[in-house]
Amino acid sequence: MLQQVELYTALSKAEQNNLFTKLAEVYEALPNTSCTGCATCCNWGSPPAFFIEYLNLYKYIRDNQRSEWQGIVKKSAEYFYLELVDPNQKCPFLNDDKKCSVYEVRPFSCRSYGLLSKKDFETGNRGLQQLAKKLKEDYDLVIPQEIIDYEIPWCDKVTSDVGSYMAKSTLAGYAAQIGTLDCYYFPQDLVDQEGSLLPYPIHLANTVLSTGARARKIKIMKQYTEGSRELLDGILNKALDFQF
Ligand code: SF4
Ligand code: SF4
Repeated sequence: MLQQVELYTALSKAEQNNLFTKLAEVYEALPNTSCTGCATCCNWGSPPAFFIEYLNLYKYIRDNQRSEWQGIVKKSAEYFYLELVDPNQKCPFLNDDKKCSVYEVRPFSCRSYGLLSKKDFETGNRGLQQLAKKLKEDYDLVIPQEIIDYEIPWCDKVTSDVGSYMAKSTLAGYAAQIGTLDCYYFPQDLVDQEGSLLPYPIHLANTVLSTGARARKIKIMKQYTEGSRELLDGILNKALDFQF
């Protein structure tokens, strides 16, 4: 698990070192894309984001969507607890009208989706087999097979303003540039192993929920698979007290 970073200290460090400007420069280097907007890619779960991208999201919500904060915390905390046991969990930032509510600060994963050719796109499931086996052995917790097997599809509906797919190495280079910004917070080794890449709602839970609340994840997952949301709802209600 990623070590906990104090949110306000992290935001100050980002401001002092112009990290948000550097992040914007990487985003701006990517081609503009368009697609049919079906939102299928936002429905499989929440894609991974670097920690600096999460800080960028947090700042954006603080400055632009303050009135929606409680709903964001609730949906994100629910995602944190249920992503492995509820196949209906989708990215918490997807609106009912299939639009991204944080489009301006969506992470690199979302921005780069559709920029690789089918040959270069890494299909495959999320490598949950080992984790599912361990959760079954240690806690008798059963992860639904459809969650274990789900594969992120390649999409052929994306067009970009450069008119062609990007080289995999170029895209990896941009991702590495964002990774260097995470090195202001975490050891280089961990960043290199993609240890600071987590879905936005997981970053949010790591910085907003208390250690005690996060430690109850397995218990909440287990209770949920047994048909009860009692513990989950108690924690979600408490999480709403978090203030910016
Ligand atoms: S990238 Fe593809 S899957 Fe995602 S919203 Fe656009 S058309 Fe749909
Ligand atoms: S952050 Fe936005 S674009 Fe990315 S998966 Fe979520 S809703 Fe979709």
